[in-house]
Amino acid sequence: MGPQGSGKGTQGEMLSEYLGIPLISVGGLLREMPKTHPRNKEAEEYMERGELVPYDIAAELIQERISLPDCINGYILDGWAREKGNLEYFNPGFDLVLHILIPREESVKRITGRRICSSDGETYNIYTLPKEELEKCKGNLIQREDDTEEAVNRRLDIYYNETQKVINDFEKEGLLIEIDGVGTPEEVFERVKSALDVRKNGR
Ligand code: AMP
Repeated sequence: MGPQGSGKGTQGEMLSEYLGIPLISVGGLLREMPKTHPRNKEAEEYMERGELVPYDIAAELIQERISLPDCINGYILDGWAREKGNLEYFNPGFDLVLHILIPREESVKRITGRRICSSDGETYNIYTLPKEELEKCKGNLIQREDDTEEAVNRRLDIYYNETQKVINDFEKEGLLIEIDGVGTPEEVFERVKSALDVRKNGR
């Protein structure tokens, strides 16, 4: 868990590779929803506005995905439990919850600067990508429709109002591990690994 732009997706990918279990992104499942799905249009409209899509749509996609054989030894879920209703509707039963923290201003900066390269599919940031690299991808960089300042602020409001309540519950249940998300992806990942080690070794 973590506010928009905290690097959840990046850390999730690194952790997925490290642990050898799949990363399942709810936002990703929704963006990849087949155009032929009867409720695709409806989901797209919510996403464009930066609002949460109806739970039943998202839950159905998650349940289908986690029933695939590659999830048998576990999986990392990014983007569920954004508000209590998510878990009331479908609770996958988390073993551990990682929470990556960054200040709100940093979220807005990272998200409004986020671009996806249409040729290699990689995510870049116009504030941190070296100029030469930026030149190379020029013309291919696209901005996600919900990465505008307005939509980001709407998503952050949900995060600070609703998601924080769920995080407080995870803390009470003893499942929460908090990670400082400021730094390079490698620095943050070192913190993730050592926090998991500490937990594993019971220190
Ligand atoms: P993300 O890629 O995590 O930023 O999510 C993008 C969008 O997907 C969100 O703004 C929501 O519209 C939708 N979404 C992601 N996770 C959920 C969820 N747990 N419940 C409902 N909608 C979601």
